[in-house]
Amino acid sequence: MTYTVLARRWRPTKFADVVGQEHITVTLQNALTSGRVAHAYILTGPRGIGKTSTARILARAVNCLNGPAAEPCNECEMCRQILDERCLDVVEIDGASNNSVEDVRRLRETVRLSPVSARKKVYVIDEVHMLSGSAFNALLKTLEEPPEHALIIFATTEVHKVPFTILSRCQRFDFHRIRPDAMAAHLRKICQHDGITIPDESLDIIARRAEGSLRDAEGLLDQLVAYAGTDIPFEAVREVLGILPQELIEQATEIIAQHDFAAVLPYFAHLANAGTDYAELLRSLQHYWMDLLFLRAGAASEERKPDQTLRALADRFSPEDLLRLTKLASETESELRRSLNPRTRFEVAFLRWVGLDRSVQLADILAKLKGASPMPTPPAAIVPSAPLVTTTTLPEAPPAKAKPAESKVSAPQGETETASPEKTPPKGKSAPAKTGEGTIDMLVDKFGGEVVEVKDTPKTSPKKE
Ligand SMILES: [Zn+2]
Repeated sequence: MTYTVLARRWRPTKFADVVGQEHITVTLQNALTSGRVAHAYILTGPRGIGKTSTARILARAVNCLNGPAAEPCNECEMCRQILDERCLDVVEIDGASNNSVEDVRRLRETVRLSPVSARKKVYVIDEVHMLSGSAFNALLKTLEEPPEHALIIFATTEVHKVPFTILSRCQRFDFHRIRPDAMAAHLRKICQHDGITIPDESLDIIARRAEGSLRDAEGLLDQLVAYAGTDIPFEAVREVLGILPQELIEQATEIIAQHDFAAVLPYFAHLANAGTDYAELLRSLQHYWMDLLFLRAGAASEERKPDQTLRALADRFSPEDLLRLTKLASETESELRRSLNPRTRFEVAFLRWVGLDRSVQLADILAKLKGASPMPTPPAAIVPSAPLVTTTTLPEAPPAKAKPAESKVSAPQGETETASPEKTPPKGKSAPAKTGEGTIDMLVDKFGGEVVEVKDTPKTSPKKE
């Protein structure tokens, strides 16, 4: 017996089965029941979220012998013909391979002919953004004066490539990425139906990994079943998807929160021994920090129910720091792809993050050294952004140099006033950091009260590897 992949077997055949796109399916159903179906639709959104399925359901719904109704019956002769792809009046065209003006001209000819057996002649044109400019022009004619019996449904992942003239002649529906909880619920349904045992936690991970694409999620589930059979332990999920143990991510965050340089080397050794995929680790860290950020901002992430560790860690960071860390991790991740030695690249970056916050304290020390009023800690929430202040105000030390433009923007007004005038910080010490060379060494060796510049983004990263 041939195996049909889950994504095909669970392809929705009714509007009610389309996951997470109620804003579209309900509108279409209302149009069907009130007899206000448009002559052209464009369905847009990321891959694997139900665009083509919705187009096919609509094609059946308008032609169903027991309709047109809010749902196709999927039983009548017409529905069966369309389901089995035997119906001559429902044509699916792949825009990517039929993108020439000739192809569109041929289409124009056939659109005019009356349907053979169906009520409406339906054209589903997938990946319509791939059409050439002249093909679009040729299509325009059809869209301007469509024959009464025609229904044209475009689907595209890149709607910005579709000319405005086309868009303005279609009803546009934007499909949303499917929320992880809705996706997990759908996967659970599949598992129950197919007798697959898998922990809920694993389903959440799959849903998260699929990044909104239901087809991807079903593909991953397929892959897991192929690997582990119908009884899928969490370990299998971890192995197949390369999921890192949660402790590794929490530990990294803890080390950064504590500025615990002593724990860094053992942590690195642990990562190396476990054969960690550093890019995956960075991705997981970004996710985790985003969760912290949401929690910090008072909005619990939909994807993760905050546990105790998460709450405790969230309190240790300011939202600004979390944003900054996430951004740095994302930058490091893209650097990693080009790097021949991801491990070193990761370790260098990580060391820098562990040192990041030190600059806050230095800013305080600096202010005290200057005898300025002790940084009157405005609203508490602003304090954590102090690292930005130090980073940007320090370079001002050499008076000849023009002020970096960012310092104006990022430094809270009051603090710049106290930090910049007359008294310049001991400049000799901050100077060498400008090349980025040795920044880490400085961090590690020198933070006993010395001026250390911690930069967000090194302009030139030393090729240590
Ligand atoms: Zn039917």
